[in-house]
Amino acid sequence: MESSLAIPALTKDLARVLIDADTISRRTDELAREINKAYANIKGPLILVGVLKGSFIFTADLCRKLTIPHIVDFIALSSYSGSNSTGNVRLLMDTRENLEGKHVLIIEDILDSGTTLDYLIRNFKSRKTLSVKTIVLLDKPERHTFPVELDYIGFTIPDVWVVGYGLDYNEKHRTLPYIAEMYPQTE
Ligand code: 5GP
Ligand code: MG
Repeated sequence: MESSLAIPALTKDLARVLIDADTISRRTDELAREINKAYANIKGPLILVGVLKGSFIFTADLCRKLTIPHIVDFIALSSYSGSNSTGNVRLLMDTRENLEGKHVLIIEDILDSGTTLDYLIRNFKSRKTLSVKTIVLLDKPERHTFPVELDYIGFTIPDVWVVGYGLDYNEKHRTLPYIAEMYPQTE
């Protein structure tokens, strides 16, 4: 059933809708199908680790499309303030699950420099996991400085600041149903 709610209009600080809600939903279907197939024969549940806060909506939508046994967990990291990277990663909240002996799929909102995922992959591999794979909703290839191996990518986007569908700018725009490009901000 189609929602009868109006789609929130673009505010003055947003340049355009980059990816609309229907497109995100269709791509999430495809990704879920691939993941269902790839993990069809594992023993025990797949541990999904959503990286807070940016991936909470993507995690919620993706996990509801999975038909394989899975457990949802979260981790909170911080490496950014505003739109400028501070270059270092801080672990703010660890997973509840013990990851040892488990297949883990990290769910990230966006791959920018790669600092966050590089840190997380190495951290999780050191916990004697059976496998560590990554899915990102968005990838900004122009910005990579760490060679991070991605297993699943939603959309490849240009080097612009995006908000919505979980992504924010200083906590603004996080719950927009679409992904929008922001005009460059001068703070
Ligand atoms: P990386 O560690 O790869 O440089 O950065 C990853 C993190 O930076 C993402 O998880 C996200 O929180 C933040 N980030 C990078 N680019 C964007 C963007 O365009 N919009 C938003 N809202 N966050 C971004
Ligand atoms: Mg993030």
